Amino acid sequence: MSESKDFLRKIVEEDLKSGKYKEITTRFPPEPNGFPHIGHAKSIVINFGIARDYHGHCNLRMDDTNPTKEDTKYVEALKDAVEWLGFDFDNNVYFTSDYFPKLYDYAIELIKMGKAYVDSLTEEEIREYRGTVTQAGKRGKYAERSVEENLDLFQRMKKGEFKDGEHVLRAKIDMSAANMKMRDPLLYRIRHAHHFRAGDEWSIYPMYDFAHCLSDYIEGVSHSICTLEFENNRDIYDWVLDTLGLKTARPYQHEFARLGINHTVMSKRKLLELVQGGQVSGWDDPRLPTIAGYKRKGYTAESILNFCDQIGIAKANSMVDVAQLEFSIRDDLNTKVPRVMCVLDPLKVTIENYEGHEEIDASYYPDDVPKEGSRKLPFSREIYIERDDFMENPPKGYFRLTPEQPVRLKHAYIISCKEIIKDASGNITEIKAKYHPDSKSGSDTSGIKVKSAIHWVSANEAKTVEVRLYDRLFSTEAPEGVEDINPDSLRIIKNALVEPAVITERPDVRFQFERQGYFYADPIDYTDEKPVFNKIVGLKDSWGKKTKTTKSAPRAQAKKVQIDGEVAAMSDHEQTLFDKYTGEFGLNSEVADTLARDEHLSKFYEESLSVLNSPVGLANIVTNEVARELKQMQASELKFDAKQIAGLVKMIDDTTISSKIAKQVFEEMAKTGEDPSQIVEAKGLVQISDPAKILPIIDEIIAKNPDNVAKFKAGNTKLLGFFVGQVLKSTGGKANPKVVNGLVHEKLK
Ligand code: ATP
Ligand code: MG
Repeated sequence: MSESKDFLRKIVEEDLKSGKYKEITTRFPPEPNGFPHIGHAKSIVINFGIARDYHGHCNLRMDDTNPTKEDTKYVEALKDAVEWLGFDFDNNVYFTSDYFPKLYDYAIELIKMGKAYVDSLTEEEIREYRGTVTQAGKRGKYAERSVEENLDLFQRMKKGEFKDGEHVLRAKIDMSAANMKMRDPLLYRIRHAHHFRAGDEWSIYPMYDFAHCLSDYIEGVSHSICTLEFENNRDIYDWVLDTLGLKTARPYQHEFARLGINHTVMSKRKLLELVQGGQVSGWDDPRLPTIAGYKRKGYTAESILNFCDQIGIAKANSMVDVAQLEFSIRDDLNTKVPRVMCVLDPLKVTIENYEGHEEIDASYYPDDVPKEGSRKLPFSREIYIERDDFMENPPKGYFRLTPEQPVRLKHAYIISCKEIIKDASGNITEIKAKYHPDSKSGSDTSGIKVKSAIHWVSANEAKTVEVRLYDRLFSTEAPEGVEDINPDSLRIIKNALVEPAVITERPDVRFQFERQGYFYADPIDYTDEKPVFNKIVGLKDSWGKKTKTTKSAPRAQAKKVQIDGEVAAMSDHEQTLFDKYTGEFGLNSEVADTLARDEHLSKFYEESLSVLNSPVGLANIVTNEVARELKQMQASELKFDAKQIAGLVKMIDDTTISSKIAKQVFEEMAKTGEDPSQIVEAKGLVQISDPAKILPIIDEIIAKNPDNVAKFKAGNTKLLGFFVGQVLKSTGGKANPKVVNGLVHEKLK
């Protein structure tokens, strides 16, 4: 558990202390209509985690009230996910469908109390009669039916005497309630459908709002934790339990913010579309954010748990950068897995002055990893290196093998190029080289200077493997679906070469392939005849995005000397820029690294700086927004120029707009090339900082949330974020967060 307790744990502790519950029971209640995703992982970690921390129980419950979409294969996937994440559901899966008879009895009870009635309006009429936010709704004539008539009709609904949609059962609450959900919500509907567990016994199925609270009650749940969308359903939850007089040790609902991750779609509906549409190979495709996908790709459960722990539990929705998840797995594997060599695009090298064969004792781990272990690495006259580790006409700053420049073979000798062999069309097919006998790694007395070490494999002993290079499924930050798929999200390399040590241990084995990334033996397709490795993640964030969320992540230090060759070295010019950016301008090393290494970006950046002296603000926009555009087009094709970007940043600096709105303005600039100030004016995006405009909104939100006000005043200061979030939300993100923060603070004092 992290150092400070989250708001849910605080509630749980208060409830234990006050004696409200003797024991804590939570539940994780998925609908079995799709494979669980990383959002579910968050909910699993919260619910099972709280139960574990307070020595209670967590029930794995299938919320299976919608017969047409559910299936046992999803139940299995959910069980798998919970287990894989390391939680225990006591081998006992609960099903809402098991409570159908009890739920039916409760419905009968409500009817007898005059608190529920059979309505026979059409769907359209029901919608119309409900009213609007500003207008009260009204009841139709069927609401006047007698208890006897309601009982008769409801029993006949159950027996299957009516068609789908002919009648519904509704709670009799209040058609003019401010909370629209309370306007006589539906409790049951007719559905002549086969249920994967209950069979054909039922022709009526309970609605979420009726089934959920009662299932919680039946199971003795104390804390019913759900996501924010259900905030308004809480009133029904309470109404049902209160009206039925279920008072002792009854559950209460608490909401938290759902997890959203950029470059990712998370709804089961959209995931199902990708699976059914064949855009991915199945629910466990390693590009999907499903638990099965992460598992197959090679993520560890620990990395997912760490990620959930780092993002914490909040009361306001926000978007997490996918780079943070990628950081978690990288961080987990960095010190755990052996480092070996794999050549993806082989170029043959013949070492002419080497005769014979040797087995080098090569450590699996670098010196800074406190782990032991080594393997025998065969070395011989014929080896393969990566094709792009040799250049005939290298640009300045290229530190690997060239006709003039020797290079170290990792763990082995330094070699120099003697001759380049080409085929008829001029492609390089082989390098003839010589090695330096006194340069062996660990006992090098050659005095030869090299600028990097490259990976290689011995031709005779190398094994052919298939390597699947996975990248993000979506190239856009907020993907909608199929149209945003990254065409390069999967690249298959059929004939990569690995050193023999890679083949010996299996299954469930992970490696770092030096300089390439982390890899996992595919649990399904790997065979001795055709070993298959999945790329789990690269060694660094190749999307070059500012990883603003990785607060706890050590920044990738731009490396000056490249002995293990993980990051390409900088040229002198790039290094000068990097030093200036981190020193004089105070940029963090990751942003500085991105800028310094990209000629177009640094040029654009310097140009905008000459207009506006705001190095950090400009760097943020240039390395994120501008860089993204430059991935898709030439600098000359950009619709906007450096001066306009300076104008945009100036508006953030003088608080005319928030940095969130700035992104929106940028999108427009990228499309139309209009000036930012024009866009802001035309779209009315000016930040609201005037207290006179903000105060009434705060008043309204305070009036709507008396519970939270009380909790805040009782010391739950974290709720400040909730109020600020609500104000920002209701102004479409335009309110000045600083001003709102101050005013809310004042108001709630
Ligand atoms: P989706 O919208 O992805 O289909 P859902 O909410 O319909 O998800 P359920 O199977 O009903 O999925 O959810 C099971 C539990 O997981 C619920 O308690 C829900 O609140 C939680 N959950 C689902 N998605 C997320 C998410 N993105 N972040 C946190 N919790 C989530
Ligand atoms: Mg749902």
